[in-house]
Amino acid sequence: MSIDEKLIDSIVKDVINSLEGKKEETEEVGVFTDVNAAVAAAKKAQQQLFRMTLADRKRITDCIRNEVGGHVEELSKMTVEETKMGRVEDKIEKNKAALYNTPGIEDLPSSVFSGDRGLTLLELSPFGVIGSITPSTNPTETVICNCIGMICAGNSVVFSPHPGAYKVTNYTVKIINQAIAKAGGPENLVVTLSEPSLEKSNELMRHPDIRMLVATGGPAIVKTVLSSGKKAIGAGAGNPPAIVDQTANIEKAVKNIVDGCAFDNNLPCTSEKEAIVVDEVFEYFVFNMKNHPKTYFLEDAGQIEALKNLVVKDGKPNKDFTGRNASYILKQIGIEADDRIKLISCVTDFGHEFVQLELLMPILPIVRAKDRDQALELALEAEHGNRHTAICHSKDIEFLSVAAKEMQTTIFVKNAPSYAGIGIGGEGYSTFTIAGPTGEGLTSTKTYCRHRRCTLVDGFNIR
Ligand code: NAD
Repeated sequence: MSIDEKLIDSIVKDVINSLEGKKEETEEVGVFTDVNAAVAAAKKAQQQLFRMTLADRKRITDCIRNEVGGHVEELSKMTVEETKMGRVEDKIEKNKAALYNTPGIEDLPSSVFSGDRGLTLLELSPFGVIGSITPSTNPTETVICNCIGMICAGNSVVFSPHPGAYKVTNYTVKIINQAIAKAGGPENLVVTLSEPSLEKSNELMRHPDIRMLVATGGPAIVKTVLSSGKKAIGAGAGNPPAIVDQTANIEKAVKNIVDGCAFDNNLPCTSEKEAIVVDEVFEYFVFNMKNHPKTYFLEDAGQIEALKNLVVKDGKPNKDFTGRNASYILKQIGIEADDRIKLISCVTDFGHEFVQLELLMPILPIVRAKDRDQALELALEAEHGNRHTAICHSKDIEFLSVAAKEMQTTIFVKNAPSYAGIGIGGEGYSTFTIAGPTGEGLTSTKTYCRHRRCTLVDGFNIR
């Protein structure tokens, strides 16, 4: 190409860009105010990605892991600052799990039929542009693990962030885009909305170029995506019970339940929300809980009532206290505790709001069950049919198996803190989109794919 041709080429490109209004629409790469513009940009990027190789997808997502890896502390601090929820040190663990333990292109298994009539391939192919609605409780973790899985599957994604966490969500999208550019990937492969609202979220869900919807949040958004008429993945609420039977190692059970329940101030949908303990070991369990250095144990009925009046409003969790530190919550009812205290615990009856509501606060009610059968019955009832997560502490393999089968939860953790079930201190990959209602379970690359068949007749069979 001569110098003149180069000049003309660059002028033409500039004119096209300005005609498309590209500079005005995009405040930062990947951040759009307009839903149509966001989807159009993501559609173009997906078409480019689809023409690239699997090795390119791997290179792009490896670069995301590396580059975002340098921002983990910053993202964790920003999230706590913006949402006023959770703990920086725990968010660091969660972000690392999302970055380094989310599967990549290896999670795209192909299968084959081969015989006299030839060869048929079954392949996992992308949906196209995915609309992903993200929560306030794990905003950056959800974006990171969604991006890695969705890109490895060959998709692009438009995020609709939670209004209470949109700054950090969009900052994460921005640095992911920078990493994609560094790896030579398409611009706007991952985009987000600068001023999120329910209206924009609905516009995104209705957009004809959005081929799949993924909602990570409470019951309202899961119901909304499932009513969209599109392929939808719903990752909804939980209320995980921790059952403790007479054979359990009680000291260890208490330690594991405190660690799981207090993790990120109980924001994870997988965290222990109530302990159901059999009568035979109940007193010893409570004794250990009272003596645990991270727990403030409430014995006074008046204080338990004051706590309930604080954190439950009109029969629902009072969002002012979602994910707040235990010491902050205690202070509001006149109890001074330093920040070494990570959890508030007390004994309640089964019908108590602390047991029945998904509080998402570092508060653990302990309920007495007369025996294991009753403990299992109560755990099933407290889980409210979410089929999300349950935990059991027992040394009896038979009981563990019965409980795992009966609970029907997506995640069942035995003799460990709940977070072992999402690959933090347990085997298996990590995800922050756990699709109980729609059955995909712990989402990963293959979740974001269409199954396609490619048939070649009368050839390539060499048996
Ligand atoms: P939320 O339901 O308030 O918000 C989630 C997202 O949905 C946000 O982006 C919000 O703006 C949007 N949204 C909510 N209702 C909507 C509607 N009617 N129309 C359009 N958009 C709507 O959830 P949150 O408080 O951010 O997160 C906590 C909840 O999410 C808890 O119930 C928790 O258990 C659940 N959660 C589940 C998983 C999982 O993997 N299963 C992961 C994280 C959080």
